Parts: sequence; structure tokens; C-alpha cells
Amino acid sequence: MDIAEYYDQIAQCNKCGFCQVACPIFRSTGHESGVARGRLALLRAIIEGRLDWNKELEEPLYDCLGCGACTANCFPAVPTADLVNKARTEYLEKVERKPIHQMLFDYLLPYPRRLHLAARAVALGKNTGISSMARALGLLRIFGRDFSRAEEIIEKLPPLPFRDKIKPGVYEGFGDSLRIGYFVGCGVDVIQQEAGEASLELLKRIGKSVTLLNNCCCGLPAHSYGDVKAARKLAGKNLDILDSDEFDVIVTDCSSCAGFLKKYPEIFVDDDRRQQAEKIAGRLKDMVELIVPAEPVEITVENPVVATYHDPCHASRGQGLTTEPREILKNIKGIEYREMPEADWCCGGAGSYALAHYDLSQKVLDRKMENLKKTKADLLVTSCPACMIQLSYGVRRHGLATKVCHISQVVAGRQVRP
Ligand code: SF4
Ligand code: SF4
Repeated sequence: MDIAEYYDQIAQCNKCGFCQVACPIFRSTGHESGVARGRLALLRAIIEGRLDWNKELEEPLYDCLGCGACTANCFPAVPTADLVNKARTEYLEKVERKPIHQMLFDYLLPYPRRLHLAARAVALGKNTGISSMARALGLLRIFGRDFSRAEEIIEKLPPLPFRDKIKPGVYEGFGDSLRIGYFVGCGVDVIQQEAGEASLELLKRIGKSVTLLNNCCCGLPAHSYGDVKAARKLAGKNLDILDSDEFDVIVTDCSSCAGFLKKYPEIFVDDDRRQQAEKIAGRLKDMVELIVPAEPVEITVENPVVATYHDPCHASRGQGLTTEPREILKNIKGIEYREMPEADWCCGGAGSYALAHYDLSQKVLDRKMENLKKTKADLLVTSCPACMIQLSYGVRRHGLATKVCHISQVVAGRQVRP
């Protein structure tokens, strides 16, 4: 559907400006074009024919984090992030779809094997210094205009992807009856393996069996880019894997994947696969929904550890999961929980946002780090591997001793020592 179909929704903006206070981009730049009111005015100008579709629209359409904070602060609840995303889809159809995205979404992400081979090659490049050379020669710009700086965000990559170390298949658990399907997001698969190992350990404690799935990317990166066709292709491949009677519940330890998997019925809204998508969404759980302990968990530490929590946008605004992770952390003996100001503000990671908007992404991250410093926390806990990457970079850049970890690592008792 063209963005013009959403004109009435866009026109609901009464220009009050209440969205300003909540928008991480506006608060970092002070530019009206970065806030929901400005973005909606832009969409309106396009629909009314005062602006043509051309390459100059790329920047204003793609510098929104899609965090949704504006909608939570907007009296008519205009879904600006969704509307901007729909405009991106039209931009790709009418202006350009970059070859790098075609390669990524059509030829890499749908195939875990290819993704693993690519991840091994990138790990090798990083560990041997080849990627630094390529960066110096400007060969990496095809990945995004700011790639050479954004590449530093990831400190190191494990030589083997998670599912090359631990093969997909059925693993026996210690629980009574629950059969769990574990959906592995790309972030855990190629970068945050310690989180994956901790999650698998916890799921084995809970379930009678755990099926480590051979799923592909959930499709969120393609969808956020506006490439609905590619997102549907990725989601379609996963439907075939997830629609199985061999598990009762599907769990993922990536809140971004979880939020998007729960939205699969919207992706197949006019499709005969909608029912299948609804069935899967109904069985889907974010890790933080499954590991809420009935009894306090006890972790042996010499001194109490101070922990704070960062809400991934796809967990808090995406799924309404804000009390669960805090309940989990407060229930752990040996942890002193301290709330961070603006804990639900986007960290600036937003998938691959930094590849084209490095400076903006860092400004948003700096604000998060200043808030983290106020807590004096030993642990910064979250539930999205992409946020973990961005937050770890922030901690490194600000010279903090705080450890960034996944909530599974804390509950499994693997990451509690400062
Ligand atoms: S808060 Fe909502 S209605 Fe007010 S200016 Fe922002 S987008 Fe428009
Ligand atoms: S989605 Fe986030 S970054 Fe985009 S306009 Fe709304 S608050 Fe700002």
C-alpha cells in the first residue's frame, strides 16, 4: 500500500510537539526534522505532491530509530515509526534498493549456512587485521557510508558461530513435560554466544526437551529497512520450521526477534499463511517471560553486585515486557537492583543504524552511558543481543568497568562477578 493510503492517520498530528521530549534523535540534535512532528510533515508533503520521490529523501526517512517512543507520548497515538517504515517501502520501490541490502536480505540471511560462512570469514578478517586494512583502503563503504567507524562497535567475533559449535537438534532437559523450541537470533548465533549458551542451559532446566532450531533470520532487519518482500520471504521460511507439533512453546532470547515473531500475523495479513502465523505467534515467548522464577534464585557472590536494566525497544514498547526482567533481577539473592534513569530509551543501536548514522547513534548512546554512570552498576543487563553490542561499545568508549550481559547469563549465574 502506498503511503497516501495512510493520509488520515498522518493528518491526525495536531503539531502539539509533545513528542519532542521523548525522541532520542530530537534530544540529540534539536532538529525539528528528527522528531515525529517533522517526520509526519514530511510524509504529508510527499502525499500532497509538494515533494518528489528522490534520493534526498533517504536521509530523513532513514534517520528515525523506529523506537516508537514518540507514539507513547502522543495524545492521538500517531504510529510515526510504522508510517515512516511504510514510506521506506515506497522509497525502495520508487527510488532505489541498494545492492548490498539485496545481497544481505535475499542471498545471506535466509540461509543459516551461508551466514555462518560469512561470519567465519568476518571473524578471520577481524582477528588477522585484514578488515582494518580493507577499512583503511575504503573498501568497506559498500556496507554503509559510516561502516569504517561502525565496524569498531563489535570488539571481537567468535571464530565459530553458536550453531556451528552446538548443532541444531533435540536436547534432553530436566523439566517435567514442557517441550521447547529455541529460536536462535542472528545476534546470538554470530556474536553473543555466551548469552546463547546460558539460555540453552536455562531452557534445559525448564523443559523436558529443547529443540535448537535451524531457523533463519526473523526478518526484522529487512522489515525495518522497508523491504517487506524480503521480510515475508524470511518469515515464510521460518513458518515452515516453527509450525511443528514437536514443541509446545517457542522461545527466543532476543527481544527484537520475539517482538517481530509475535507480529508475523501482520506480515501475512492478506495471505493464506496468516492462520499458521497466528498459531506460531500464540506459542511464542520472549526469554524473560519464561524464566520469571517462582522462587528467588540464589547466586553465591562475595559482595552484593549492583545491577541495572536496559529495556530494548522491542521488549518494552514492542511487547510490554518491563516488569518481568526487573522481577527476575530483584529475585536474585546477591544482586542489588538499581533503576537507571531513562532505562526504556533506545540505546542508538537500532539494528544496523550506526552503519549509516554513526555520529547520531553515538550521541544517543552517550546519553544512555551518562544515565548508566548515575547507577554505579557493576552489571548492565538487557535481553537483546543487538543492544548488548551497542551498550558494550558505549561502556568501552566511556572507560567504564560495568559488564554488559544478557539476563540469561545472570539467571544462569554465569556473569555476576564484577
Ligand atoms: S505528539 Fe503526536 S500529535 Fe503532537 S506533534 Fe508529536 S506526533 Fe504530532
Ligand atoms: S520512532 Fe523514535 S527516533 Fe523515530 S521519531 Fe519517534 S521517537 Fe524519534
